[in-house]
Amino acid sequence: MPKRNSMRFAAALLTVLASFMAGPNAALDAAPQHRDQVPGFYRLKVGDLEVTALFDGTGTFDAHWLNGTRATMDGVAKALHEDPHMLYVADTGFLVNTGKQLILVDAGAGTWWGGEAFGRLAGSLRSAGYTPEEVDIVLVTHLHSDHVGGLTTQDGKRAFPNADVYVAKAESDFWLSPEIAAKAPKDAQPFFQSAQAIAAPYIKAGKWHAFTGSEPIVDGMQLVPLPGHTPGHTGYEFSSKGQKIVFWGDIVHALRVQLQHPEVTAVFDIDPTAAAATRNQLLPKLASEDVLIAGPHMNFPGLGRLRKEGSGYSWAPVVFTDRWDER
Ligand SMILES: [Zn+2]
Repeated sequence: MPKRNSMRFAAALLTVLASFMAGPNAALDAAPQHRDQVPGFYRLKVGDLEVTALFDGTGTFDAHWLNGTRATMDGVAKALHEDPHMLYVADTGFLVNTGKQLILVDAGAGTWWGGEAFGRLAGSLRSAGYTPEEVDIVLVTHLHSDHVGGLTTQDGKRAFPNADVYVAKAESDFWLSPEIAAKAPKDAQPFFQSAQAIAAPYIKAGKWHAFTGSEPIVDGMQLVPLPGHTPGHTGYEFSSKGQKIVFWGDIVHALRVQLQHPEVTAVFDIDPTAAAATRNQLLPKLASEDVLIAGPHMNFPGLGRLRKEGSGYSWAPVVFTDRWDER
C-alpha cells in the first residue's frame, strides 16, 4: 500500500474506532427529554368492584397547620429540617364501578385551590376511560373545598350533571348555615363560602341529598361516621366477595407525622379532641384487619394498608402492577 493511502486508511480506521468507543448512538442526535407524565389514574379490583384512584394534585402541608405536644412538634421541626419533602401531600378522588353504578368518592379541588397544582381530577377521569356524565353518585367525606371543589366547573355549573350527591346531614347543615358562618372565625370563612357555592347548583337541581345514616344509599356500602375533622365527616366502606375498602377522607393529612403520632391534629379540625379520638379508634381497627384504605392525602394513588409499628403505624402502599385485577 502506498504510504499516503495507508495514512488515509489509518485515519479512517481511527474515526470508526473513536465512534465505537463513544457508544453506539454517538453518531445520532441526543434523545429529547419527554415531559409528559403517565395519566393520573390507578386501578385495582376489590372483589367485584373496580376502584380507580383519580389524581387531582399535590401540595405541601405547612408544619404550622399541625398541633401536638411541644416535644412532638420539636421532633417534626427537626425531621423537616433533615427532609424538606416530608410534608408533601396529594389530593385524590376515587371512582368505584360496581358494575351497576359509577360512584365517585370525593371530587378533588376543582378551581378552588388555584393554579395548575390542583383540579386535575376531571382530566384523570377521562384518561381512565370515563366521562363526568357517566357518574351516577358522588359520596363526599366532608365539605372542605379540596374534596368537593371539583363538583362544579369554573362558571359554577355542575361538573357531574347526572350525579346525585350524598353528604352527611350534620355536615351539610353546618357548612350551609348562614347563621353558623356569621359566627365562624375569619380564617374559616372561605370554607363556608366554597361549600355554599358548590352545593347551590346541586340543591337547585334536586341532586343534593343529606343523609342521617338510616337510609340505604348504595348496595354493599356502609357509612362510617368519623366526626371531629368536621361535624359530619364520614367514611365509606365497600365490601365485595369478602374484600373491603374504606374511603377515610381526612383521617390523616400528614402521613409521616400523624401515623406515628395519631394525637397530632390539624388546624382545620373543627373539633380537634374528637378528631384525635376518632383517629385513635380507627387506626388500630384498620391495622388489625386486611382492609384496603383509600386516603385522599396519602401519596398517589392513595391506596394502601396500615401496619402497627412501634407506638404508631406505618403505611404500606399498594405495589404497582400493570394487571388491574392483581393486588
Ligand atoms: Zn382534605
